[in-house]
Amino acid sequence: MEEQTRSIIQQSLDALMDNKLFLPDLKEDMRVKAFKSLNAILSTPNQIHKSFLRLPLENGEVVRIPSYRVHHNDALGPYKGGIRFHESVNEEEVTNLAFLMTLKNALHNVPFGGGKGGIVVDPKSFSDKELHRICVKYVRYFNHVIGPDKDIPAPDVGSGEREMDWMMAEYKKINHGKPYLGSFTGKSVANGGSLGRREATGKGVYFTFRYLMHDYLNANANNLSVSTNPFAKTALSYANRPLTVAVQGFGNVGSVTALEAFNCDYIKNKVVAVSDRNATLYNAEGLDIPALVAFTASNRGDLPSTEEQLTSAGIKATIQPREDILTMDIDVLFLAALENQLHDGNKADIKAGIIVEGANAPTTEEADAYLSQKGVVILPDILANAGGVIVSYLEWLQGRETQFFSDEEVHNQLIAKMKHTMDTILPQYFGDPFPLRQNCFIHSVMRLSTVLYRQGKLY
Ligand code: NAD
Repeated sequence: MEEQTRSIIQQSLDALMDNKLFLPDLKEDMRVKAFKSLNAILSTPNQIHKSFLRLPLENGEVVRIPSYRVHHNDALGPYKGGIRFHESVNEEEVTNLAFLMTLKNALHNVPFGGGKGGIVVDPKSFSDKELHRICVKYVRYFNHVIGPDKDIPAPDVGSGEREMDWMMAEYKKINHGKPYLGSFTGKSVANGGSLGRREATGKGVYFTFRYLMHDYLNANANNLSVSTNPFAKTALSYANRPLTVAVQGFGNVGSVTALEAFNCDYIKNKVVAVSDRNATLYNAEGLDIPALVAFTASNRGDLPSTEEQLTSAGIKATIQPREDILTMDIDVLFLAALENQLHDGNKADIKAGIIVEGANAPTTEEADAYLSQKGVVILPDILANAGGVIVSYLEWLQGRETQFFSDEEVHNQLIAKMKHTMDTILPQYFGDPFPLRQNCFIHSVMRLSTVLYRQGKLY
């Protein structure tokens, strides 16, 4: 697991160790040993499964594709986490992402543990038939470790409802006669998926930002305006004024986040920049997000990256290198692409005062410490991007009962859960001088530690 993750676990446990009101039964020598055990358990995955999928290509060649399923911890329920299709997937990355799932579910009180999967492929370089074979093989190779009560995969970068439908169909075939609707989430609605799942992560990401900057700040303005907390000062300096917004990544999460910002009536924000794997698009007057969403829908998910494409789609923007979006002079930066985007090399050039992590782990430890020290408000991944797993839980529940919720019911449950977590965490954040990430991690580790202790796992 990454060093950054280990050090955050250690910091959270150190803070809890000194809090004698937490697990008060554990005293002196016993307390020291129990916290050592917690560190060992949380910083190690339960299992790492690895296979080389044998894939016959359409040209007759056979290739072997490395693929993973990592089970981090299941103290709170069955393992849960997406399957990433990307050429840079590796064991350390998947393990780290599985750990973040454990923490995310604990933070939002979702009754799942943490898992993650990965397949080392660039999906754009395979035909649909080959991708179908990859999905089928993944289920065959990992069938013994997945299932509705064991481990429930979902989409991640490079995968979506099509892949989940294919995978569920294979699971159903292999496990004939057994319940199968809860084996995968993020499926199409036609195939037992939940209304609102596709949009859930992006909606939750934008809601986290809107709830803080509009609802929470306005409701608590009197207290916060006299506070000396550096993050309260920053947040208030951006409240109730027009804001410029940039969104890195324009896939499932980024495109919905950008659309939510474009349509928001609560905050006057203008999306001036978006980006993807090819380019950044910029327009100081604001980009036409619905037109960009329509363009990507008919161009295998890619934004326009040439003047001809912009002209034919009727979109006004300048095309800039893809990394430019990170250091633009804007107020709010949504990160919805990959990890390690804000790092030692660009941290000093970042101008946004508010950063929202739609992606998992997009900020390195160095950049996080530097920006937090400057008072930048960072809404961390495990808080902001949990909409997907929250609605995945609803999908799993609907699949078990074969009773389906309306769009409105799903939306209301998603918002209620995220609001509840924010209301628990934000008073602490604006009270202590700790970054929000640390507050969230402490909260998650506290819940996990209590459950592990009560389950007798610390002896
Ligand atoms: P996606 O594959 O739908 O989209 C990824 C986007 O990032 C694409 O627009 C791609 O072009 C762009 N991109 C790739 N490399 C880039 C680069 N180097 N610079 C800029 N853009 C780049 O993936 P997604 O589902 O939207 O996931 C995005 C992030 O959100 C990931 O970190 C994922 O783990 C996280 N996440 C996703 C979900 C979900 O429900 N899909 C839930 C929680 C977290």
